[in-house]
Amino acid sequence: MAAGNRDQVNPTAFVAIQNLDKSFGNQKILKSITESFAEAKISVLLGPSGCGKTTTLRCIAGLERPSAGRVLLAGRTVYQDAPPIWVPPERRQVSMVFQSYAIWPHMTVSENVSLPLRAAGVPASKRVRDVGAALEMVGLHAFADRSVTQLSGGQQQRVALARCIVSESPVILMDEPLSNLDAKLRVAMRIEIRQLQRRLGRTILFVTHDQEEAMSIADRVYLYSEGTVIQNGPPKELYDNPATRYTAEFLGRANIISVFEWGMSQHGPEFRLPGGVVLPAAVDAPPAAGSMLCIRPEKWRLISPQAPGAILGRISDTTFVGDRTEYGIDTSFGHLIAVELNADVREPGDNVGLAIASREIKILAE
Ligand code: ATP
Repeated sequence: MAAGNRDQVNPTAFVAIQNLDKSFGNQKILKSITESFAEAKISVLLGPSGCGKTTTLRCIAGLERPSAGRVLLAGRTVYQDAPPIWVPPERRQVSMVFQSYAIWPHMTVSENVSLPLRAAGVPASKRVRDVGAALEMVGLHAFADRSVTQLSGGQQQRVALARCIVSESPVILMDEPLSNLDAKLRVAMRIEIRQLQRRLGRTILFVTHDQEEAMSIADRVYLYSEGTVIQNGPPKELYDNPATRYTAEFLGRANIISVFEWGMSQHGPEFRLPGGVVLPAAVDAPPAAGSMLCIRPEKWRLISPQAPGAILGRISDTTFVGDRTEYGIDTSFGHLIAVELNADVREPGDNVGLAIASREIKILAE
């Protein structure tokens, strides 16, 4: 669903922004965004650099004052342009994990984690208990008395996570929290964050520009482009049913076919492509003008070129990546990418047949 069509927030949403605008000087960074983020779920704000993800988080946290609109946290309005409402950040009950972990180098691990509890005036005995439990949860119990400077980047990241956990704030905002970690640790931390979230039931808003990270951690992805959210949904739904070329290409890889005609034959509806190629269609009427077809690389079936109905192609390049092989394929209607799992590797120059099921051809509005 496109965000621009809605300006009402979901009444059951835990965190919501309504017609949120933010400009820096005369540059509009957030353009009247209305979105609802569900309680006890991980909502991922995904998009290229500079599209407004961090600014959205900062407006929710109260670190940035929006230009117009409304921000709701746990059903309470914490910002509104008119009549004006402004709840300062320290009274919003959100905690944040930044890209740079914002931990204090002169303190030990447990001193860092106990900071929000000290600030809230929690008695020492409870502080010790809560910090111990949080460190246990992130697997750093044995490091409690170490200086944080003696920890690896990944361990420091866990300290920042533990600090979010002890704060008990119902909403946790995470801004590219894994970006400084190496690839292996990043994958491990995604799983940890998901497990933690399930155990604690917090509401997490997580910013990333990495589509794989977004898909693997999100309950729901909010895809940004230039200050607006252009589509949101569960990761699989966005991947399987992108509404536009932008979504299709940002979330994974896609073969986009923009030149085709819809027609009806004795076999049923079909898409007619350059070079006399015919693909089966699942729609009984021509798509709107300007529509495109989208086929995910793994949806092609590679078959014998002699098979009845096979679309003819020639392999132009082959990339073997262990569990699958990726092919570039030249056809009469353009260059394609296709992926085959656990198969014998085909070589460049090989002729190949292609087949596709009509349900795997998605229609993009633009
Ligand atoms: P990134 O992943 O690079 O952080 P982002 O989607 O989080 O990207 P934002 O940090 O929200 O993007 O920034 C959006 C735009 O707003 C950028 O063009 C940025 O330069 C601009 N911007 C952000 N903060 C300020 C500021 N305090 N003053 C002026 N411009 C700003």
